[in-house]
Amino acid sequence: HVRFRDVQKSYDGETLVVKNLNLDIRRGEFLTLLGPSGSGKTTCLMMLAGFEAATHGTISLDGERIDNVPPHRRGIGMVFQNYALFPHMTVAENLAFPLKVRRLGRADIEARVKRALEMVEMPDFAARMPAQLSGGQQQRVAVARALVFEPALVLMDEPLGALDKNLREQMQYEIKHIHENLGVTVVYVTHDQSEALTMSNRIAVFDDGIIQQLAEPPQLYEEPSNAFVAGFIGENN
Ligand code: ATP
Repeated sequence: HVRFRDVQKSYDGETLVVKNLNLDIRRGEFLTLLGPSGSGKTTCLMMLAGFEAATHGTISLDGERIDNVPPHRRGIGMVFQNYALFPHMTVAENLAFPLKVRRLGRADIEARVKRALEMVEMPDFAARMPAQLSGGQQQRVAVARALVFEPALVLMDEPLGALDKNLREQMQYEIKHIHENLGVTVVYVTHDQSEALTMSNRIAVFDDGIIQQLAEPPQLYEEPSNAFVAGFIGENN
């Protein structure tokens, strides 16, 4: 239901960091943008979320162009690596915030906050401040906050990058579980091949602003379309 057509992006008016992106994201899928640092993955998420404008081309959501729709009207949840929780608000207030912005009623807000905290297995943490939580717990709250207004599409930019290996593997499992339970579409950014291979329905391998290959994980392994994909997927595995 997301469609990028001939999308290009330049920040300086000269260099294209996204070169000519054509990508269809299917409803309900877990699609990962995988590639080295600087290959343009985050820029693609920012254009989809509405924080950056494309220099050329169109992006549409369910058949409607979204170029002029501001971020909070796009119905997209976001999770970042650095959690980005509001430090002066409790966990419950952090979760309520996107619902207040959308002017939901108080009882509805309370019910949704409770459901979202149960979803990430933190029902007893509503009154805590972010500083009183571990890194993994903060990231769970960030995931809950992205899901609390029940978006059809959630964007995650290296959400587990700051966590240690064990916790990262546990959170991979939890995020996958949430994806399967909710049927939400997830667009996930990582430079970690094994994370992408574990979690994704499809993977778009980026290099230098271009999708080098878009395929399901086994196919990427068995039939890499060029030397870059073969080298990148083979690394550290
Ligand atoms: P990383 O994994 O390091 O985040 P990435 O694949 O997500 O990398 P982008 O963050 O999209 O890549 O960056 C692509 C290119 O655009 C890089 O060369 C980067 O320096 C440049 N860039 C990104 N954001 C900006 C910005 N706000 N202003 C100017 N240049 C930018």
